[in-house]
Amino acid sequence: MSGVRRFAPDAAGDYRWQAVEVLRYKDEGTAPFRDITRQVLFAPPDQASELRYFEIAPGGHSTLERHEHTHAVLILRGRGTVRLGDEIHAIAERDLVTVDPLTWHQFHAAADSALGFLCLVSKERDRPQLPTPEEAARLQR
Ligand code: MN
Repeated sequence: MSGVRRFAPDAAGDYRWQAVEVLRYKDEGTAPFRDITRQVLFAPPDQASELRYFEIAPGGHSTLERHEHTHAVLILRGRGTVRLGDEIHAIAERDLVTVDPLTWHQFHAAADSALGFLCLVSKERDRPQLPTPEEAARLQR
């Protein structure tokens, strides 16, 4: 639907898109993550992609995962780091992160800053793969 939705802090100081339901990042217990919310901003039936907004609270992180589908991630708020394969990059507002197929990736908010980002993803996507304990140990060393 046509319209303008504001991106503004709530009473707790967390940024939210107005009039968009705040969802859990993933179903409980499916994968390790910490302190993330999700809002689906744009997913009309004529589009093959969805635009989502994720916000990771200070010190929180997304799941370490990989999959065939790609991501484009635009950092909208705060700062932190992203793992892309074997590399860790510092990220902050207005940075664009792109993730290629089957590239391990994980977002961390800084200890003293939330990390909020837009994520463009295909509606038809494969399920994320999680690392084996050995892969996790190698990546997180
Ligand atoms: Mn992913």
